[in-house]
Amino acid sequence: MKQENIELDKISTEIRRNRLMQICGICFLGLLVAAWLSHGITFKILSMGCLSLIAAFGFALRHQLLVASSILLGSMSLMLFALAATGAGMHDAAVLGYPGLLIFAAVVSRTRIYLVLLFFVVLQCCVLTWLSLNGVIETRVLKPSWTQFYYILIIFIIVGASIYLLINEMKMLMRSSEEKSEKISQSRRHIQRLARYDGLTNLPNRFYGERLFNQILQDCSEENRSLAFLFINIDNFKPVNDVLGHKAGDQLLLLLSQRLNSILNSEQKLIRFGGDEFLILAPISKTMCEIKELCEDIIAECANEFEVLETGVLVSASIGLALAPEHGSDFKQICRNADLALFTAKRNGRNNFFIYDESLQKFSQDNFKLLQALRIAINEEQFSLHYQVLVGLQERNSNTVEALLRWQQKDGSFIPPDKFIPLCESTGLINRLGKWVIQQACEFCAKQRKLGDTNLTVAVNISMVQFRSGNLQEIIQQALEDNDLPSDALEIEITESVLMEDLEDTTAQLKELDALGISIAIDDFGTGYSNLGYLKTFKASKLKIDRSFIQELRQTSDDSLIKAIVNMAKSLNLEMVAEGIEDKATMKKLVALGVDIGQGYYWSKPVEQDELLDIRHRVIEGKS
Ligand code: C2E
Ligand code: CA
Ligand code: CA
Repeated sequence: MKQENIELDKISTEIRRNRLMQICGICFLGLLVAAWLSHGITFKILSMGCLSLIAAFGFALRHQLLVASSILLGSMSLMLFALAATGAGMHDAAVLGYPGLLIFAAVVSRTRIYLVLLFFVVLQCCVLTWLSLNGVIETRVLKPSWTQFYYILIIFIIVGASIYLLINEMKMLMRSSEEKSEKISQSRRHIQRLARYDGLTNLPNRFYGERLFNQILQDCSEENRSLAFLFINIDNFKPVNDVLGHKAGDQLLLLLSQRLNSILNSEQKLIRFGGDEFLILAPISKTMCEIKELCEDIIAECANEFEVLETGVLVSASIGLALAPEHGSDFKQICRNADLALFTAKRNGRNNFFIYDESLQKFSQDNFKLLQALRIAINEEQFSLHYQVLVGLQERNSNTVEALLRWQQKDGSFIPPDKFIPLCESTGLINRLGKWVIQQACEFCAKQRKLGDTNLTVAVNISMVQFRSGNLQEIIQQALEDNDLPSDALEIEITESVLMEDLEDTTAQLKELDALGISIAIDDFGTGYSNLGYLKTFKASKLKIDRSFIQELRQTSDDSLIKAIVNMAKSLNLEMVAEGIEDKATMKKLVALGVDIGQGYYWSKPVEQDELLDIRHRVIEGKS
């Protein structure tokens, strides 16, 4: 800005200099013609005027504008005075030059110089009058003559041309300042828009959204209506960004915002809350049914395929719904409550909506308490590992046991891992806990091997957050080294969500682990993306079909899905594991289907390490 002002100053000084030089030039030419027409003392005065104009021009040329304009004004006023004093006094045509001189001074000079000039002009007129009254100057009415006419004409031309140039310059300056102020108001409007609207989707942003919320809520309360607050989050948006790039992510968000807008009516407002989160403010006209229908429409629209950079992309949306003023009138409060409802919608399997109720508040408070207790538990190592055997269903035995975390409370009860592990993941605590699990499992394995179970392998569950930390491989290698174990003593179990998180980085880490000789099992298969395309980049050794399928097999005779998975696993050279086998009949069905390994309460629940050896013996003997 400062730089810009300096530039502007430079330009206006340059314009002033040019004007000054032009006016010097015009006056000089005028005086030259007048001198040519004159003789005697008038000729001498005009010649002196010409010389001083040359001096003024010279100073202007050397950028000394103050000196130049002072010389110009001073010499011209003296010249006019001299012409009048030697001519017809106040009746002389030279007096006509004064107004022009004053206008010129007012426009190009500083106020001080203008006032000095005005004072001199008045003084000169006084002196001329006094001289005339005292008979020093012979006051006579000049007879009309062509010479007289030419003098007047020259004065008019000089004054006229100078004024024309000055006024023109003023007009130019006014025009450019108008343009400048238009530009300023344009950029102000642009800044205001940027502050209120999202650059990508052109939707109101979170900050403007808050204002809209307050306005619409006020209108609604005047009409005795409620305002539905829909908090929308795109499920699995991150993989689109990671796999197809940010350009594709942006395009998807743009298409999505257009689709959402197309199903809203004029009363309903769509807001981009940030990232892959949108907000809809929808005044309720009649009943909640219309809002539920709107949620269903949104979910259906989002689930339709998007054409992004010539690739078909499938995503889904989860919605948290809260009502104002019922669930809060303050923007932050309603956001929090809708967010809690959204979290529940996600927990319920995504691609659905959930309406806020008071119990969610309790849930979040419970979670908070649980988190506090978890931090203490990690510091005090209140955790232990239980182990569950895996059993060979065909000819071969299995030497693997799965390590499962247990958190025992003071009253002897256990908090299930399904409850505390997601919390550990969302807070990053899983990194410390997961490291501890790996170390404990390796320690246990080394101990068992020394006790005679020489081929034992321990499988540990690894969360996606542990991959993000970047030092998983180091932790695993260290744990194996510390316990003097070969790499085949450890197996890691990952779910497919791990692979969708940050595909490139995760597969690179898995490749390295595979190269170390650590075997990898895909856990809970069938609940996630069920797309084994990623196996091209790293080698997994086991496929653990989710226990929900095994439980279904118990109830129905339809085994086609498991058959298909078995075939696929066989063709990919993967060992098939069925977890959650609780009875003999199911076990038999799975044996017949060709499943390699079983795991479940049918053989044993996860047990403490001391009990495991017995169970392993019993299972192995039972098979032989
Ligand atoms: P998962 O990896 O699928 O582990 C198998 C779960 O199935 C275990 O639940 C096990 O007790 C249970 N299970 C085994 N056989 C049967 C059966 O016949 N019937 C039934 N109904 N259940 C059976 P658990 O121990 O409650 O663990 C739940 C989940 O918590 C695990 O699922 C795993 O995802 C997670 N988890 C457990 N320990 C760890 C850990 O150390 N790290 C991480 N990241 N996750 C863990
Ligand atoms: Ca597992
Ligand atoms: Ca599992």
